[in-house]
Amino acid sequence: MTVQLTDHQINEFKMKLNDRFMALRREISAELLHTDEEQYVDLAGRVHDSGEVALADLLVDIELASIDRHVQEIRDIDAALMRIAVSSYGECCDCQEPIAIERLTAYPTAKRCIGCQEAHDRTFAHGGQPKL
Ligand SMILES: [Zn+2]
Repeated sequence: MTVQLTDHQINEFKMKLNDRFMALRREISAELLHTDEEQYVDLAGRVHDSGEVALADLLVDIELASIDRHVQEIRDIDAALMRIAVSSYGECCDCQEPIAIERLTAYPTAKRCIGCQEAHDRTFAHGGQPKL
């Protein structure tokens, strides 16, 4: 059986997600600094007032293949922080059951319980078509 997260636990995940978000932002800034100094200054200025709109702009602007992975992770973190904001964090997006805390600890951005994730992976992984 899984249990609903307490406010305290949610706060800990929120801090963890924010830390990772900051670290990623620094990594992306460093990578951009390598590729284009002017763009970095522009980006850094906008990231500074990190509202959601600014973040959306940032994500649209970032198209460098080398940082795609980081951008994807930032999106996942952003989505997880949004779920915290609307109090649906830790709830499976498919079956609405609570996600096991062990799973959230390992993957704070998890949006599915392990059962639904495995079903999802079976359906979409390996390029296979869903069976009728
Ligand atoms: Zn589920």
